[in-house]
Amino acid sequence: MSYRVVNPYNGELIKEFPAATDEEVEQALTDANNFYKQAKKQPIEQRAEQLAALADEFTKRADYYANFLTANMGKLISEARGEVKKTVAFARYYVENGAAALVDQDYTAMAGRKAHLEFSSIGAVVAVEPWNFPYTQVMRVFAPNFILGNPVILKHASIVPECAQAFDDACKAAGLPTGAFKNIFATYDQVNQMIGDPRVQGVALTGSEKAGELIAAEAGRNLKKSTMELGGTDVCIVLNDADLKKAVAGAVSGRLRNAGQACTSAKRYLVQSGIYDEFLTAIKKEFAKYQSGDPLNEKTTLAPLSSKSAQQNLQKQVKAVLDGGAKVLWGDPTAVEGPGAFFKPLIISGMTYDNPMYDHELFGPVAQLYKVDDEKGIVELANHSNYGLGGAIYSEDLDKAHKLASKIETGQIAVNQPLSSLPELPFGGIKKSGYGRELSNLGIREFANIKTVLG
Ligand code: NAP
Repeated sequence: MSYRVVNPYNGELIKEFPAATDEEVEQALTDANNFYKQAKKQPIEQRAEQLAALADEFTKRADYYANFLTANMGKLISEARGEVKKTVAFARYYVENGAAALVDQDYTAMAGRKAHLEFSSIGAVVAVEPWNFPYTQVMRVFAPNFILGNPVILKHASIVPECAQAFDDACKAAGLPTGAFKNIFATYDQVNQMIGDPRVQGVALTGSEKAGELIAAEAGRNLKKSTMELGGTDVCIVLNDADLKKAVAGAVSGRLRNAGQACTSAKRYLVQSGIYDEFLTAIKKEFAKYQSGDPLNEKTTLAPLSSKSAQQNLQKQVKAVLDGGAKVLWGDPTAVEGPGAFFKPLIISGMTYDNPMYDHELFGPVAQLYKVDDEKGIVELANHSNYGLGGAIYSEDLDKAHKLASKIETGQIAVNQPLSSLPELPFGGIKKSGYGRELSNLGIREFANIKTVLG
């Protein structure tokens, strides 16, 4: 198993890291367990101060941390700075609100008997994280668990080891106690060993459906609590009465940000027939404005994909989409040659339920367009998916939009804006998009012992 940084812009090997030894894994578990025990005796306020110091560290050296994102997975430097900012926002949310989400909750049991809930730590959590948002994904798990008193051991994606190391270094620079956070360049076997270890009481995965099946099965075999933040085929619904400008801006940025590699990207545009032609003309114009190039150049607006293998995989998927009968409405589906992992954006239509790629997540700048007549058709098409992560609805009739939102089978949905993760709001999916919630007051309780005390 190798952890390697290969610059997606030019294919150059930047750095390799050896996989962890079993001794390193054991040390991480020992340190984590010591932190867990120590944190039980410590006031939350002390950890809130330490988490604030971590947020300060990311803020002070934002450009330093942002550069690793661009070098490791090709993110535009402006988006990389944005990710560092969001990482800080996630930390600060739990600095300010974490303790409040953990105060005892009173219940009134029958006939005047009293009861309350306590929220407390349970042990180490293994976080298995993806490359597409290398810092925010880690902070989403780390910040709430740190406040709660659960140590976190990170197994990051093998293509972003410098980002993983940088997060670990940031924790050290901020003076966080030993064992609170540890990055391990673990093999899959070592991840399984950690899940089976009694010092570990939870596993949080963000990644693909395939990894979800394997890791959830391992957690189940060991009766460990797990959360699964998996992929999606999110819809962007545009009704006849939408504000066209708003809908187009949200649809296009929702599909092309992070080079189309976001779990909640607007992957399927479902557009009502009355606005379809105007919408299509406008999105073609917007797509044409995107310029690929060096992600470190501030003028570049479309980054390369995260790796050569991501590029080749998407190219294969697009071929299967087109062989299956769909057609290109805008863009050039031929592969980009050369060492960079570039992919030319596409707008495709004619995806039918029997297309072999229908309901597969296309993780890159490929938008699917569907013309739909009425609300019944929209709901049928939107819900004809094994996934259920997020979505967006554009309509100037808010009441209608909210009623429609209730009928869409997803864990979250936005009205008149692209869906984005905010620290205050629960984030997660249903169906094959996974289970559990991150962020907000719910995220901090996922790996808590929710203890009922009667009397
Ligand atoms: P991935 O291939 O599943 O990898 C995710 C992480 O899981 C990586 O660290 C990977 O390590 C690890 N992994 C995979 N199989 C494993 C196994 N058998 N045992 C232990 N670890 C294993 O996914 P990805 O391609 O990096 O990320 C993209 C996916 O994540 C997309 O489907 C996207 O929609 C989803 N995502 C979901 C959310 C959400 O919040 N719902 C957010 C972001 C992304 P290696 O790199 O070493 O293989």
